[in-house]
Amino acid sequence: MTPDGAARVHASHELPATPPPAQTVEARAGKIPIATISLCGCWGCTLSILDLDERIIPLLDAVTITRSSLTDIKRISGRCAVGFVEGGVANEENIETLEHFREHCDVLISVGACSIWGGIPSLRNTVGLAACLREAYLDSPTRVPGSPPIIPRHEEIPRLTTTVRPCHEVVHMDYFISGCPPDGDAVFSVLSDLAAGRPVNLPTAITRFD
Ligand code: SF4
Repeated sequence: MTPDGAARVHASHELPATPPPAQTVEARAGKIPIATISLCGCWGCTLSILDLDERIIPLLDAVTITRSSLTDIKRISGRCAVGFVEGGVANEENIETLEHFREHCDVLISVGACSIWGGIPSLRNTVGLAACLREAYLDSPTRVPGSPPIIPRHEEIPRLTTTVRPCHEVVHMDYFISGCPPDGDAVFSVLSDLAAGRPVNLPTAITRFD
C-alpha cells in the first residue's frame, strides 16, 4: 500500500532492479544480448534451455543473457537481439509483459506449445472462465470444509483474460520452436544460427513429433 492507503500496482517489468556491477557490464560488452520471459506455462520450456548442457558455455562467448526467468530479473536493461517467450497469454499482466518484451527485442521467438497455441492452459477456453473459477474456488473437492466461498480478487492479482491466447495473437512473433517442451537441440540450433548471423534453419527432424 502507498502512504495514502491506495493500492500499489506494478507490472512485473516495472519492478526495480539492481544495476549490474561494472565488471558484468564490461564482460557483456560486444556480446549479443538475449532474454527470456515466462508467461502462462509450466517452466518446462525454460528448463529446456538448460538442456543445452555444456554447449551453453561456448555459446556464452557470443551471447549474454540479460532478463531471464532463471535469474528472476524482470526488468530489461537495454535493447535485446533475441527474446524467447515461454507460455501463452492468460492474464492482463501477461499482455503487458509480452508487449513490453516485443518493444525491446529485435527477434521474438515463441518457445513451446503454450506460447504457440495456448497449450494445456488453453483447455479452460473449452468451458469458459466462469466455470473454471467456480470449479477451482467454489466447488473444488480440496476446498477447506466450512471456508467461505470466495473467488480471490485484488488490485495486485492480475486479472485473468476471458480466454488463453497464443502469443502471436497479441504481438508479432518471428519464429516458433514447437514441442512440449521443445528439444534442447532445437533451442541450440536457433540460438547458434542467430548468434552466427545465419538465417534460422530448424530441421523438421527436431521439431516434428508425429
Ligand atoms: S509447452 Fe509444455 S513444457 Fe512448455 S510451458 Fe507449456 S506445458 Fe510446459
